[in-house]
Amino acid sequence: EKAEIGLIGLGTMGSNLALNIAEHGHRIAVFNRTPSRTDAFVESAGSLKDMVVPCYGLEELAAAIRPPRPIIIMVLAGKPVDEQIAALRGVLSDNDIVIDAGNANFRDTMRRFSELSGSGLTFIGMGVSGGEEGARHGPSIMVGGTEESWKRVEKVLTAISAKFKGEPCAAWLGHDGAGHFVKTIHNGIEYADMQMIAEIYGILRDGLGMAPKEIGKVFEEWNKGRLNSYLIEITAKVLAADDPKTGKPVVDIILDRAGQKGTGKWSVIEAQQLGIPATAIEAAVAARVLSSLKDERQAAEKAYGDMGVEKISGDKAALLKDLELALFAGKIAAYAQGFAVMSGASKEFNWNLPMPTIAKIWRAGCIIRSQMLDTMAEAFGSGGASTNLLMAPAFIAMMKEAHPSLRRIVARASEAGSPVPALSSALAYFDSYRQGRGTSNLIQAQRDFFGAHGFERIGEQGAFHGPWGSGAGH
Ligand code: NDP
Repeated sequence: EKAEIGLIGLGTMGSNLALNIAEHGHRIAVFNRTPSRTDAFVESAGSLKDMVVPCYGLEELAAAIRPPRPIIIMVLAGKPVDEQIAALRGVLSDNDIVIDAGNANFRDTMRRFSELSGSGLTFIGMGVSGGEEGARHGPSIMVGGTEESWKRVEKVLTAISAKFKGEPCAAWLGHDGAGHFVKTIHNGIEYADMQMIAEIYGILRDGLGMAPKEIGKVFEEWNKGRLNSYLIEITAKVLAADDPKTGKPVVDIILDRAGQKGTGKWSVIEAQQLGIPATAIEAAVAARVLSSLKDERQAAEKAYGDMGVEKISGDKAALLKDLELALFAGKIAAYAQGFAVMSGASKEFNWNLPMPTIAKIWRAGCIIRSQMLDTMAEAFGSGGASTNLLMAPAFIAMMKEAHPSLRRIVARASEAGSPVPALSSALAYFDSYRQGRGTSNLIQAQRDFFGAHGFERIGEQGAFHGPWGSGAGH
């Protein structure tokens, strides 16, 4: 019997996705560059072995799948994907669908989509979130391509996706690069979310002098409330874990140097290109870069005389409540930025991105899944968040309650010397966004002074210049 679908790349994500597909009753043909990995995969498939057709060449793979063939590519993003597509072109036939499920840059996806258009083959760029566990038991799946090609793979993709109260977390989001763009912004938001959690951890550790397990308990408590989310849940678990080698808390033996693979950076680059402020995400990406400068930071610590972080005193219960609400407010602002970037891109690339659907398919399966995303889905669905999430009535109410805490925490952390780049960026964004009259009148005056750029007068039409006289640059 022929397979219904094919998959190339049996690494962490590919092998788990293949098992997930097989488990849902879809016969799958698999291929991996290194044959031993294919053998190992078949061994690991256990009772699902019968649903898997191992292949050792692309021709064999194509022959094993019933046409029109959907083939998922799950290899290292970048050049390997182009190589696989080029190789597949030789063995596939008209109407077959090539699906890139890796973390592609959406601009590559757009290029691949147009390169394949007219070739007879169809291209889908698909973002998959949820890590290894998600791939195996239900990821969040963000699809970009033609609607027709989505219809042809919808059944299998919705079957293998995560479910939120029975609703599948897989959807078609728009043409060409839409799926990979949304996945990129998902990751950008993930960077901000993780960074803000780490900043709160820093205040608890250094400002309040709490031990990892004690901090873990705080996160565990928070996970029962408004902050309920996968990232808070795993943070609690991480903080509770001990290192088997030394018996110390694991977090205490891990080097404070964070890695990144590019999606956070792309989010920021695209936000800048589109002219949409995404300051909390920018701060989170910059924080990872700064973290990687371990040697420089240690030298700077010596140069500045190990100032450390001052202890933060006061009523502990009140402080913890403030920290919880600060994280909550910061998170709302960061998500507002992420959604605003998607909204800008949707216009720029004519995707017509369905914001309520995006919030919905992020409610389960993906790394940023949270209770709050359900409220966001409602806000976008009712049209209340059409300009910015911060304008949705439900979020106005939440921010009104939470922003004083964010303000106090940013102030106290800054005084104590505990860096809070993402939280403070989120606060500054909120404060700038809600300020009916800002300070750019001065910027305009300066620009006119040195460059004769002109300015608008309040309540008048036209361009005006200031009375700068002979000292002015122009
Ligand atoms: P792994 O490193 O586990 O596996 C990489 C796979 O790519 C292997 O099958 C490898 O084959 C194959 N590969 C690498 N280079 C080539 C090449 N030049 N030609 C053919 N095959 C090649 O990666 P992951 O499974 O973690 O990631 C796969 C994709 O999924 C990436 O785009 C990643 O960004 C994305 N992703 C990963 C997530 C995660 O949590 N890990 C989450 C969401 C997306 P071989 O065995 O021969 O080396």
